[in-house]
Amino acid sequence: MTEFEGLPDSRTSLRGLTEEGHEAWLIRGIAGKLYRCPGCHGEISIGTDHVVVQYVRRAGGSDHHHWHRRCAEDLLVPELRGIKPVRAAASTRSRLETRARRPAGRRQRR
Ligand SMILES: [Zn+2]
Repeated sequence: MTEFEGLPDSRTSLRGLTEEGHEAWLIRGIAGKLYRCPGCHGEISIGTDHVVVQYVRRAGGSDHHHWHRRCAEDLLVPELRGIKPVRAAASTRSRLETRARRPAGRRQRR
């Protein structure tokens, strides 16, 4: 996935679809507290540049997880289809939570 190497960054997020058809948004984050990466179950220490993965489900609803950058690149990105770069400003967590209030068919195209 060299095409997306170094992404997400502070200006650009990534959006793809899971096998089940849920949106997965990959947003660059800086850890404000200690997180555990679902990829390797290791710790993401405070202050670490990492990837926030926010799922927006087809039926509505969202949740997010914090991944090591490398784990997201190696384990998560290859599982997603149709990955596209998107503006980070349009993919903040609060915007995605708003988006998730509608089921997929009633969301604005973007
Ligand atoms: Zn990890």
